[in-house]
Amino acid sequence: MKAHHGMYIGGEWRPAAGADTIEVVNPVDEQVIGRVPAGTAADVGHAVRAARAALPGWAATPPTERAAKLAALRDVLVARKDEIAETVTAELGSPLPFSQAVHAGVPILVAGSYAELAATYAFEEKVGNSTVYHEPVGVVGAITPWNYPLHQIVAKVAPALAAGCTVVLKPAEDTPLTAQLFAEAVAEAGLPAGVFNLVTGLGPVAGQALAEHPDVDLVSFTGSTAVGRRIGGTAGAAVKRVALELGGKSANVILPSADLAKAVNVGVANVMSNSGQTCSAWTRMLVHTSQYEEAVALAAAAAAKYGDRIGPVVSAKQRSRVRSYIEKGVAEGARLVVGGPESPREQGYFVSPTVFADVTPDMTIAQEEIFGPVLSIIRYEDEEEAVRIANGTVYGLAGAVWAAEEAEAVAFARRLDTGQVDINGGRFNPLAPFGGYKQSGVGRELGSHGLSEYLQTKSLQF
Ligand code: NAD
Repeated sequence: MKAHHGMYIGGEWRPAAGADTIEVVNPVDEQVIGRVPAGTAADVGHAVRAARAALPGWAATPPTERAAKLAALRDVLVARKDEIAETVTAELGSPLPFSQAVHAGVPILVAGSYAELAATYAFEEKVGNSTVYHEPVGVVGAITPWNYPLHQIVAKVAPALAAGCTVVLKPAEDTPLTAQLFAEAVAEAGLPAGVFNLVTGLGPVAGQALAEHPDVDLVSFTGSTAVGRRIGGTAGAAVKRVALELGGKSANVILPSADLAKAVNVGVANVMSNSGQTCSAWTRMLVHTSQYEEAVALAAAAAAKYGDRIGPVVSAKQRSRVRSYIEKGVAEGARLVVGGPESPREQGYFVSPTVFADVTPDMTIAQEEIFGPVLSIIRYEDEEEAVRIANGTVYGLAGAVWAAEEAEAVAFARRLDTGQVDINGGRFNPLAPFGGYKQSGVGRELGSHGLSEYLQTKSLQF
């Protein structure tokens, strides 16, 4: 994999305005695998100008032609899927089979879904004596995190382009090589110059310049709640559109009638997947008191099997963050049943799969997003208490409910303050709206709901 030394702006790789660079490190062996430019406000300015210049032409391109370009982009991602998987593995550290199936596979699905939606979406509708046009919002500033490097990019760029918007992307500093590969794919797919632009750089410099740029019409951000709050404030002050996909602390609620072993095993796999770096992970497992110790034993056995096979977390900073949460769990009196703060390997940013029992709902590890392979098992006495605990954090992104009968699980799921709930291990649906209640965010991604975030309506009365 090779790193580009420039920014992808206006359909070409251009030298960065400044000389600073960012080192890209492989989290498995801690070796530097590349360097990308650390963009500044000047680079962001060039990119926004290119996106603005490309906007009228792209917005006026018939949706079927935009759809064809998105289909071409999907085809390039398919053709380069091995390279994508290898790049994500090199800079994020996830095991290659997971990178192939999820990090490369899901963006292909999502890009394909927007190629179809662009061709079929009703961009014009009749409402009584009015014709309502759904028009692109304009220039989009997209700021993405490292946890699913390509998915987070495609989940913003594909609907934005389908809507007729143009984009400037500032990807996470830990995973810029995947973003550069995406820019190559955009070029190869034949998208017009300036429709998509890439500025690599640090969050507080390039990210902030993009979020604050007066000529950006919509800021779409995924990442931490702290930065999201700030970006929301900036957008609010400028009266511009904003979409925020922030953290989660989702509950996996196992009702007494459920298949306990299945619910626990799937629950543990969900938390360990991607080394726990998933905003929608079910990091709190809620178990009825009558089944509590059995569930703890099952979870401990399941987690112990993973060992260091889950891969490292993304960086030394993230590893120390996760370790300090594990230490806090012990200090606050939770029972450590598997794992702990020590690294399972001398080299690489590995964290042991960790399971805590006797976690009470008010403990820090039950309230804050850890973003590592750490599961907290919480006891409940009755259904009312389970609802209270499940809803008892500032977040509301995802969750799971398990019961013998689907109807029982659905009735419980309807009481959860959260944007997504998997019933008895329901499968990922790339067309279902994804996003948060409460402080998990504002707006939705994926499917037609994700597309409508990038549109604004104009009504003509007759
Ligand atoms: P972050 O919020 O700092 O970074 C996310 C993106 O925002 C990156 O591209 C970053 O460069 C950019 N950014 C940072 N500061 C900015 C600023 N002032 N203005 C504009 N953009 C800025 O997240 P992080 O440091 O990578 O991770 C910290 C924690 O955030 C994680 O431990 C986890 O809890 C959470 N997180 C959540 C998600 C999610 O999908 N919801 C993803 C990644 C991280």
